[in-house]
Amino acid sequence: MIGAPVWLPAIIIPRLVGLLNVVMKILLVEDSATLRHAMCQYIREAGHEPVVAHSGEEALQLLEDTPVDMIIMDVEMPGLDGFETTRLIREWLGGHWIPIIFLTGKSEDDSYREGIEAGGDDYLIKPISPIIIKAKIRAMARIAQMRDQLKQLNAELAALSQMDSLTQALNRRTFNEQAEHEWLLAKRHQSPTSVLMIDVDHFKPYNDHYGHPAGDECLKKVTQAMKSCLNRPADVLGRYGGEEFIALLPNTDSAGAKRVGQCIIETVRALQLEHKFSVVAPVVTVSVGGATCNYTTGHTLEDVIKGADRALYKAKNRGRDCYQEEDLTSHKTLLISARSANQMRQTVELLQDECNIVTADTSDECLEIAENVRPDLIIVDADAVFHNDNYLCRQLAQRRATSTIPLLILTDSDSPEHLLAASTVRPQTLAWLQKPFTRESLEAKVQSLLG
Ligand code: GH3
Ligand code: MG
Ligand code: MG
Ligand code: MG
Repeated sequence: MIGAPVWLPAIIIPRLVGLLNVVMKILLVEDSATLRHAMCQYIREAGHEPVVAHSGEEALQLLEDTPVDMIIMDVEMPGLDGFETTRLIREWLGGHWIPIIFLTGKSEDDSYREGIEAGGDDYLIKPISPIIIKAKIRAMARIAQMRDQLKQLNAELAALSQMDSLTQALNRRTFNEQAEHEWLLAKRHQSPTSVLMIDVDHFKPYNDHYGHPAGDECLKKVTQAMKSCLNRPADVLGRYGGEEFIALLPNTDSAGAKRVGQCIIETVRALQLEHKFSVVAPVVTVSVGGATCNYTTGHTLEDVIKGADRALYKAKNRGRDCYQEEDLTSHKTLLISARSANQMRQTVELLQDECNIVTADTSDECLEIAENVRPDLIIVDADAVFHNDNYLCRQLAQRRATSTIPLLILTDSDSPEHLLAASTVRPQTLAWLQKPFTRESLEAKVQSLLG
């Protein structure tokens, strides 16, 4: 028996067995009818299926809708010659490689070199014996098929490297990547996004009493149960840490998140995995915390994850085996629009620990966000307010969605009230803060306006 080469991973060996009996479609590009006839016969005798093109042009046309596994190419043909045709095919195929063998009467060294440079893999001189051509086809087939196998294995390895090997949930890194991607989509479509944090209850005593291998088995089953509740293709499930999991649910509001969370709790309980050492139930249970962000503007994915984490903490405190949610809106949302980037940055920095901050660069952006996000407070520069005949102020006052949102105006003037006195159309609550201001004075103003 021939031993396997040491450098081949063991999983590859069985896949190579029997590879060489595959029937290939071989494109024969040849202008001579006699040679076409003979070559077709050799190809069939080698166990493959010939596809014929009479010229380089015909070969290119044919390849557009007929996938082939190998090409045997004449060089001297009217119109495009074999070298030019090969260059065009290689360009067209890009990263997809198929073997191309030249079969030609041109025996000069220079032609050989040009053929290989044009993208050929082998160069055979006519006349050629049927035995040699069949052997060459076989050799090329072997290389092509090994390449296909390696490509497939690479894809499988890439998929495996994204998984947590125990549970087959995504590992944390991949979860983060995919969740960030979904978050960007949600931002673009302004669609609600929910996050669930799931943690197995009293898992330490489970491990201590039933042993680590049993603990591992339990985590696998719990993961399957969780997966069975995530039905949408865009839902993402990751293992976040030991016995803690995270699910991102795109396009899901808080009612939807709660449904999925409850489903997970019930499905895990229904597994009936005995847990004599849990205070909660005689079987393995999980606690789930959920958080939903209805408008991604002003929030980061991290905010939502933190919210879900706080909710999970609540669920643990409320006795476990239950679902709790965190209302992200309990953090007030402020919309800040300042003309100077410096002023904006400074104001954001002062407030960002206590509030969700959304910023707008222009008056129109400010109006659009105010209507969509409905912030709890809008903070703007006096300049922006008075600009264009009080445009921003009037628009905010006139729109139903924004007329009751309090407006805090940052101003250089020490008696700014008269500036707006002439205008009768203004938001219901209006307050002023003179620059420069301290963190304390800003926070006090914001607090009083938020009630
Ligand atoms: P709580 O209800 O508050 O979540 O209690 P708990 O016991 O589940 O919490 P704790 O975080 O103290 O324990 C988590 C335990 O999970 C610790 C460790 O024994 C176990 N664990 C973490 N990762 C694995 C794993 O991969 N396999 C196994 N078998 N156990 C794990
Ligand atoms: Mg010819
Ligand atoms: Mg736990
Ligand atoms: Mg835990």
